[in-house]
Amino acid sequence: MKAWEKNIRKVVPYTPGEQPKERDVIKLNTNENPYPPSPKVLKAKLELERLRLYPDDKAKILVDALADYHNINADQLFVGVGSDDVLAMSFMTFFNSEKPIFFPDITYSFYDVWADLFKIPYRTKTLNDRFEIVAKDYYEANGGIIFPNPNAPTGLAVDLSFIKDILEHNQDVVVIVDEAYIDFGGMSALSLIHQYENLLIVRTYSKSRSLAGLRIGYAMGNSDLIKVLNDVKYSFNSYTLNYPSIVLAAESIKDDAYFKKTVEKVIHTREWFEKELTRLGFTYPKSSANFVFASHKTVPARKIFEAAKKEKIFVRFFDKPRIDNYLRISIGTDEDMKKLTEFLEKMVMM
Ligand SMILES: *Cc1c(COP(=O)(O)O)cnc(C)c1O
Repeated sequence: MKAWEKNIRKVVPYTPGEQPKERDVIKLNTNENPYPPSPKVLKAKLELERLRLYPDDKAKILVDALADYHNINADQLFVGVGSDDVLAMSFMTFFNSEKPIFFPDITYSFYDVWADLFKIPYRTKTLNDRFEIVAKDYYEANGGIIFPNPNAPTGLAVDLSFIKDILEHNQDVVVIVDEAYIDFGGMSALSLIHQYENLLIVRTYSKSRSLAGLRIGYAMGNSDLIKVLNDVKYSFNSYTLNYPSIVLAAESIKDDAYFKKTVEKVIHTREWFEKELTRLGFTYPKSSANFVFASHKTVPARKIFEAAKKEKIFVRFFDKPRIDNYLRISIGTDEDMKKLTEFLEKMVMM
């Protein structure tokens, strides 16, 4: 080993779902929205000559639009380059205790990567055998808590009383609720930020707003939390969001009717698809997200995953303990899901 190698920060990176190069695939592996962004976004006017200048470091038009939409003050809102950026900044800002942070054993697989990257001690808490988060596991002393609601990749949501219970038992640490999928079901904990100054809610444009390619995420919480988050951001990179992203993200917020309509369509398709899964002998936790986490009673998940890929149908398979017989299937258009159902029908009859 070379001497300088001792001083390298070595990390095992997060592996995102595959982004196949071909366009003619049925892509149900990274929970993107099957519908295009709002026509308001598609028709927005960009003055591209402005790219000569640095963008607005405060992303004011976007922060104001989001604050207005959620009925909070601009100083209660932080924006970043996708919620991954917002979450990474939050780990760096809020999780600096010697005590371990807690999150579920089956959850968004980026949490342990950030914890390792920033050398944050952590302990995972085992979901029960129905894949539910157990509140009591989070009563012990810790350095912070994070979980998605609805959880990923299970799709299961907790109710507000559950989140209140976690907050009541954890008033000395920051509690982050990652609401990446909240628009598809479950109750947002946003109203609780007025009551609990240690609660941070994180949202993304990547799923319900059909803008994964734009990279926009945001956090909402007490203005003191937002201030320190901004201090860290400005100590790292002042200009995170670029000019086109700020404009297009603000446009998206103006079209609530379109947003609600597409979210409704995804939920409707999900309900149809869940019935089909049941008919074909699959089981799954009741989903509150834009994906279903399904397991078949006889056909192994890995086999379905590999066969589906040959048919150019991409779903997500996690080769991890407890969940290696499950597939996380994003909800696509009705047409996508009909084709997938026909494929699954053949698989389970073989
Ligand atoms: C997709 C996802 C994110 C990241 O979303 P981006 O905004 O695209 O970075 C964060 N948390 C969970 C639970 C997710 O599923």
